[in-house]
Amino acid sequence: MEELRELLRLVLSPLIASPLSEDERKAAEEARERTLRILHDSLSKRDALLVEKPEEHPELRYYPLISPALVQDLICELEKVTFMRDNYPENKETMFAGNINSKYLSPLSEDERKAAEEARERTLRILHDALNKRDALLVEKPEEHPELDNWPLISSALVQNLIRELKKVTFVKDNYPENKETMIAYVYPSHSARTIYLCPPFWKQNKYLALGSQIGAFIHEVSHFLGYKDSHTERTDSRAQLHKSLTTYTIADAFERYMSHLVQYEGNSYSCCGETSRDSVCRNSRMGLILRRIIKPNHVFPLSEDERKVAEEARERTLRILHDALNKRDALLVEKPEEHSELRVSLISPALVQDLIRELEKVTFMKDSDPQLLGHVYPSSSTATCFGNNINTWNSIPNWAH
Ligand SMILES: [Zn+2]
Ligand SMILES: [Zn+2]
Repeated sequence: MEELRELLRLVLSPLIASPLSEDERKAAEEARERTLRILHDSLSKRDALLVEKPEEHPELRYYPLISPALVQDLICELEKVTFMRDNYPENKETMFAGNINSKYLSPLSEDERKAAEEARERTLRILHDALNKRDALLVEKPEEHPELDNWPLISSALVQNLIRELKKVTFVKDNYPENKETMIAYVYPSHSARTIYLCPPFWKQNKYLALGSQIGAFIHEVSHFLGYKDSHTERTDSRAQLHKSLTTYTIADAFERYMSHLVQYEGNSYSCCGETSRDSVCRNSRMGLILRRIIKPNHVFPLSEDERKVAEEARERTLRILHDALNKRDALLVEKPEEHSELRVSLISPALVQDLIRELEKVTFMKDSDPQLLGHVYPSSSTATCFGNNINTWNSIPNWAH
């Protein structure tokens, strides 16, 4: 990386880099100051937002946990940074690779060709699976959901375009030695030939859908053929336009990070959703969850007769427990819990138990097919309805809204 940067500087920098104007310098310094304030603020809220040892929390591996040490390093490095203007014309990635690498290009070996074709097949299976699960994972009109503009919402039209372009692609090997840590693959978006140039790191990428996968690399590169860029460069990008300006990175991220299964493939299936196909996306992924929550809440149904019986039995048991607590009020309940704040346990008053009984008797039940939930209510609704997803674990939660 360093050597490549140095080479680029020597060969090309007179053409592309120049000092900032006074206005640009001020804008860059202001951006640095804002960034430093954000970083310092995250340090001052470290107990709420940062994690000392992210590696001790494998259950949160899909979240970008940040340690205070990392924030301090970022601050320290950002304070040292100087700025230059980069006048590079269109697509940095393209020119960069094209001007420097061409003598390292060669056809793929037979083994590499097979591996690349396999990666293409896996990617096509992932894309087709996303289309099959479009009701759970895709959004036809992302622009209608500004509340989700931080999420890479993907339409089925985009998935179909990715499939169409990926089928046309041919592969070329780029063995540029200095590429090892930087570029995985690249394309010339404006060429009519749909060639993906595969660099040495490509072969070490994950074969299956996950962060850093060959599948994500293909989705990224094919997105370039559809006109997407690596970053939002146009200053006119408004929040409303953000969805239209998905980037190559956020499109790949949508699949690698947001639609992928939450657990490893084991025993011929993914236990997060029961899917048995290895190359598949997940209805219960983070994308599935957020869409169910916000855009596609039509996952609520009446109970079947069997489910209704189970729910009613659970209500009866709960009522018996509550009545029994009232019977044993001398031993277990406290008339005025607020007078005993020194006791750090949850004290319950008979009045509260009576309220629970009264509300639970009014409750009706609905089924919520969302597997991430045990049970929930809409507290502001005037009808008292409990939603549960799993018949073995249904919770009856009374409604307090009245
Ligand atoms: Zn790119
Ligand atoms: Zn799954």
